[in-house]
Amino acid sequence: MTSLASQFSCHDDYDPNALAVDLGRQLILDTLTPITGIEHIPLRDALGRILAEPVISPIDVPAHDNSAMDGYGLRGDDLAADGETRLSVIGSAFAGHPFDGPVGPGQAVRIMTGAKLPPGVDTVVMQEVVRATDEQVTVPAGQRKGQNVRRAGEDLRAGVAALAAGRLIRPAELGLIASLGIGEVGVRRRLRVAIFSTGDEVISIGTPAREGQIYDSNRYTLFGMLTRLGFDVIDIGVVRDDPASLETTFREAASIADAVITSGGVSVGEADFTRAMMGKLGEVLFWKIAMKPGRPMAFGRIGKDDNGAWLFGLPGNPVAVMVTFYQFARPALLRLAGIDPLPEQPLLQAACVTPIRKAPGRTEFLRGVLFVEDGEWKVRLTGAQGSGILSSMTDANCFIVLGPAQGSVAAGDPVAVQILDGIV
Ligand code: AMP
Ligand code: MG
Repeated sequence: MTSLASQFSCHDDYDPNALAVDLGRQLILDTLTPITGIEHIPLRDALGRILAEPVISPIDVPAHDNSAMDGYGLRGDDLAADGETRLSVIGSAFAGHPFDGPVGPGQAVRIMTGAKLPPGVDTVVMQEVVRATDEQVTVPAGQRKGQNVRRAGEDLRAGVAALAAGRLIRPAELGLIASLGIGEVGVRRRLRVAIFSTGDEVISIGTPAREGQIYDSNRYTLFGMLTRLGFDVIDIGVVRDDPASLETTFREAASIADAVITSGGVSVGEADFTRAMMGKLGEVLFWKIAMKPGRPMAFGRIGKDDNGAWLFGLPGNPVAVMVTFYQFARPALLRLAGIDPLPEQPLLQAACVTPIRKAPGRTEFLRGVLFVEDGEWKVRLTGAQGSGILSSMTDANCFIVLGPAQGSVAAGDPVAVQILDGIV
C-alpha cells in the first residue's frame, strides 16, 4: 500500500496545515473501502442495517391486476361514447375474495379496493359517481377505459432487483421487502468502532471530581452519534496522556475494531508525543483543518492487516468533537459500513436573523435554530459559540455552514444550513 501522505500529496490543494473541509472529507472517503462479511437475519432485525446483496423480487408486485377504488368493475369497451352506460351487476369481488368467472359484455361487478379484477374487467368506476341497485348500475359519461386499475407488476417485476446492495434499510425498505414475501435478508455485519478519551484532566462519571478535573462528555456524544448510525460501540474509557498507556490502548483498540475514534491529544501542544508514538503503530497524518471549531484532527491507519483499524483522532473540545465527527467521521464510517451511495447532506438556504462576524479563509460551523416566520425559513444562533460550550449543540437543530469564501453575515443575509434531525 502506498503511504497515505504520498497518496494525498498528489492533490494540488493538499496542505496538511490548512486543509479545506471538503478536500479532507474527500481524501478520507477515497481511501476507504467497505468492510466485508454478510449476516443473514430476520427482516425485522434488519432495520437500520445495510444490504450486502440486492433484494431480487421473486414475484410481480402487485401479483395481479386489481382495483384502486371501491366501485364497479366493467369492460371498458362497454362504455358509451357519450352519455350514460347501464350494466347489470352479476356479483362482487373483495380483496382476498375474488369473483370467479368472467364478466361478459353488458355486465359489471361490485368491486373493492385491492380486489383482483375478474376476467373481462379492465376498468373501475368509483362508487361515488354511479347510481346503483343490487341488480343494476348506471355509469355517468366521461369514464376512461383502464381507469382506477393497478396493473400486475407495476410496482416491481419478478426477477429484477427491488433494492440494490448498499441500501440502508429504513421502515419503507422493510415494508417493500415484506411485500415480496421475503422474511430474511443479507446485511453487512455491523461496523465495530472503539472509542476512548485522552487527557490527564478527564475523569469518568462515578468518580468525584477533584480540583481541575472535568467529566468526560465526549465518550457520551460519540456513543450517541455512533449508536444512531447502527454501529457496535466499544467504549475503552479514558486514557492518561502517557505514551506507554496510549500505545497499548491503540494496539488493543485496533485489534478489536474496524475504526478507532479518540478525542483530545491532537492539539499543537499535545500532538508531538502522540505523533511519535503513532509512527510506530502505522501511518497517522496530523491535519490542521481550515475550519472552526475543530482545527486539529488526525487521520490514518494503525495496527497491521486484520489487526488494523482506521483512526480518527478528533480534537478534545466537546463541540469540536461533534462537528468533526459529523463532517469527517460520519461519511467515512458510513462508507466503511457499506452504504452505497452515500446519503447526500443537503444544505438549505435560510435568512440569518443574527449578524455573524467572520473572516474569509475557513469554514465555520455555527450552531443554529432553524424556524419558520411569515412563511419563510429563518435561522438564529443558539448563543455563545465557544467550542467547549455543549449547550450550543443541545439548543441547536441545525449547523449554519459558512464556507471559506464567506465573510461576515449581516442580519437578514441568506446562509447555508445543515439540518440535524431527519424524519426517518
Ligand atoms: P485537547 O484537544 O486534549 O487539548 O483538549 C481540548 C479541550 O477539550 C480541553 O479543555 C480539554 O479539557 C477538553 N476535553 C478533552 N477531552 C475531553 C472530554 N473527553 N470531555 C470533555 N472535555 C474534554
Ligand atoms: Mg488533552
